[in-house]
Amino acid sequence: MEMTAEMLSGIKASIGSAMRGEFYRKRFAGINPEDIGSRADFERLPLTEKEDLREAYPLGLQAVSDERIVRIHSSSGTTGKAVMIPYTQKDVDDWAVQFARCYSMAGITNTDRVQITPGYGLWTAGIGFQLGAERLGAMAIPMGPGNTERQIRMMIDLKSTVLCATSSYALLLAEEIERRGVRDRICLKKGVIGSERWGEKMRRRISSELGISLYDIYGLTEIYGPGIGISCEHGCGMHLWTDYFYFEIINPDTGKAVPAGETGEIVITTLRKEGAPLIRYRTRDLTREIPGACPCGSPYPRIGTIIGRSDDMVKVKGVMIYPSRVDELLAAIPDVSSEYRIEIGHAGGRDEMILYFETPLRSPEERGNLEKIVETRFREKISMTPRAVAAGMGDLPRSEKKTARIIDKRE
Ligand code: ZN
Repeated sequence: MEMTAEMLSGIKASIGSAMRGEFYRKRFAGINPEDIGSRADFERLPLTEKEDLREAYPLGLQAVSDERIVRIHSSSGTTGKAVMIPYTQKDVDDWAVQFARCYSMAGITNTDRVQITPGYGLWTAGIGFQLGAERLGAMAIPMGPGNTERQIRMMIDLKSTVLCATSSYALLLAEEIERRGVRDRICLKKGVIGSERWGEKMRRRISSELGISLYDIYGLTEIYGPGIGISCEHGCGMHLWTDYFYFEIINPDTGKAVPAGETGEIVITTLRKEGAPLIRYRTRDLTREIPGACPCGSPYPRIGTIIGRSDDMVKVKGVMIYPSRVDELLAAIPDVSSEYRIEIGHAGGRDEMILYFETPLRSPEERGNLEKIVETRFREKISMTPRAVAAGMGDLPRSEKKTARIIDKRE
């Protein structure tokens, strides 16, 4: 993305700060930040991988003295060590400012009541939503995840106007509210939906069942947390806070910048972070820059919806499959819901893929026909044929955490 002279000087300062910590002192040994005079110079610096950050465990990323660190967050490690990110008071304040700016962009004000359902703990979700709401002057309702019964009660009794949730939990709440017939007692107007890839069909369902407008928020624990960008009322991409970060979009295979507007992986350099500055951090999130000005008039550039992760793509029978393409494909077929589950196995020396989808149709003939349609569409659009299996509405597992839709059983 564009690198202004101001950004370049911010980048140089940030590299200098980062090198005060053990991790980047070693990694950038022999590099003088003052020698970086152009975007090309900067792009010659090595990318930082999540695996690299794990090696800095526990506090190798810390770039300031101990007395300036006020908080630790950590990204969960499903494999191996977690990544620990130390924050200074200024980092915490900067994060609050960015998050409050997200709420403002979504039209949320200090008269709103913000029900926060993401989790609280070492990870950054719930507490970020809370920091931003308090900074804005809104009323934060720190529910955390789960206990749907109590969530709906609080939503009614406290007249919550904003729901913060993952897309799968927002869908679960929408379905429960519908099932209980309490929708006319719900005062929600807006939803701020974070940290998950989700399709247009799921968005429409949540939006119409709850009668609210939805905003996508972006961020990751390694870089403050959620709140580094959000979609505006026009819903045409997420604006990114380029006064705090320099963003690149690279080809995940070659590591080189992709042409503007093409899909690639987001790489982030922090410009103001003190506790643990990151330089050229690979997010693994796939999206594209949206060229041109947004109708809302915001000067902040935009990226499209996150279409998946570069390490989520699965190869079946030689074909790359992105979860987002499956979303799109199913969204275009009548009588198929937004929920699905893919199982990939290996039988008789060949890859085998089973696609489970939900449908309201009940008769075996209708379901059989629909399975054929799904298989044909897959062959036409993705160039491989799965075995499609119809399930009833609500039969596939829902999750309060990130929904794992693709299960790869191959070894
Ligand atoms: Zn906009």
